[in-house]
Amino acid sequence: MSEVVDPATGEVVGLVAATTPDEVDAAIARADAAFARWRGTAPGERARVLRRFAAVVDAHLEELARLEVRNSGHTIGNARWEAGNVRDVLDYYAGAPERLTGRQIPVPGGLDVTFHEPLGVVGVIVPWNFPMPIAAWGFAPALAAGNTVVLKPAELTPLTALRLAELAREAGLPDDVFTVLPGAGSVVGERFVTHPAVRKVCFTGSTEVGTRIMAGCAAQVKRLTLELGGKSANLVFADADLERAAATAPYAVFDNAGQDCCARSRILVQRPAYDRFLELLEPAVRALRVEDPARETAEMGPLISAAQRDRVAGYVDGATVAFTGSRPDGPGFWYAPTVLLADSPADRHWREEIFGPVVSVLPFDDEADAIRLANDTEYGLSGSIWTRDVGRAVRVARAVEAGNLSVNSHSSVRYWTPFGGMKRSGLGRELGPDALHAFTDVKNVFIATEE
Ligand code: NAD
Repeated sequence: MSEVVDPATGEVVGLVAATTPDEVDAAIARADAAFARWRGTAPGERARVLRRFAAVVDAHLEELARLEVRNSGHTIGNARWEAGNVRDVLDYYAGAPERLTGRQIPVPGGLDVTFHEPLGVVGVIVPWNFPMPIAAWGFAPALAAGNTVVLKPAELTPLTALRLAELAREAGLPDDVFTVLPGAGSVVGERFVTHPAVRKVCFTGSTEVGTRIMAGCAAQVKRLTLELGGKSANLVFADADLERAAATAPYAVFDNAGQDCCARSRILVQRPAYDRFLELLEPAVRALRVEDPARETAEMGPLISAAQRDRVAGYVDGATVAFTGSRPDGPGFWYAPTVLLADSPADRHWREEIFGPVVSVLPFDDEADAIRLANDTEYGLSGSIWTRDVGRAVRVARAVEAGNLSVNSHSSVRYWTPFGGMKRSGLGRELGPDALHAFTDVKNVFIATEE
């Protein structure tokens, strides 16, 4: 049994039994046995079940959101969005089974057609920072394409995934089609990689673990999607709407207490606007409401754990702090939003993913300098570009090596547009119209028509 803790108070809110190696193997075997039936279920019926699952999630939205506030310290506003995202992703991919069409390719002497065949059992491995959405981005398209799913939530945040599995049953998903297996990454997660019946691993987490998983999957030529770390740039040109750029910058990095793979944790400001931008940023950071995440007004909650708080603090020690926001006193894993001035792009806090409410600021000279600095990282997940010059916005968006960019905005995630990273931020894309194909293999069939 492992304890589940409320990060806002440090209190134990539940006990969850870790799945043993034998139990993992048994669950994978059951998921494998359930595959034939699920893939053979008529597309319209699979779609109906997924729509019902979405409706049941919708009916339990507030309960799921409250559970996430308690287990993960997410603000109630964010947690409601996250539960709603699970519903929306299910609804979106519920439209897919009847539309998973192949092609008919002209060939001499017969008919040539392609099929998108489901893979079998898909193993989804989820991190602790967005337990609900990241689970759904894996299981919803995987199920829609006709696969069965085994899912491992992060050790620290298993509660909402376990509840979603119950809701799936309530919605009429057949037994063993979607199974949640809490436990250690080194036990449950590793087994998804090594078990031959698991035909694909869908992993979201750190680049370090993702790299090991990729090597493990290679041994079986196992299909793999990776959503890994980030160190994204927020590029503010001198011609931008500086008021808006500064007012929104805190939310682009401090949302979810900075525990967001898309956090714009490096702010690059063109030199003539640098002082003015910092002047505008300071009141915006100080005004951020860091408080009990269950309060409707909360804009930022605690970090996930004491260990994460210590890790974050380690990046701030010895760095140049420009200013900080507030944090509540008392128990819980709180850390005040913190703005650091980078002395150079070699600074550790400029280069490494901190995964906490810490942002680093550095000036740049011109467009070429901005692009060079933005790309001077092993990561390539997201980023923002603030300018009033449309041509520059397009040029810079094309030049920045990242999978998800926004211009004069910080949006990264819409369930109907593709999401994923370049370079060491990942492999493959989730969400959007094409994600389903990542859960299938193309089969080509030639049928001779000659007598
Ligand atoms: P982590 O890599 O430590 O763990 C992620 C998951 O992998 C957990 O469920 C863990 O139990 C499991 N795991 C650990 N070791 C394993 C192993 N050897 N084999 C199989 N599974 C194993 O990451 P974390 O600390 O939970 O999450 C934070 C990281 O996730 C950050 O780097 C963040 O940027 C990244 N992230 C990326 C995205 C994205 O979409 N690109 C989204 C969210 C988080």
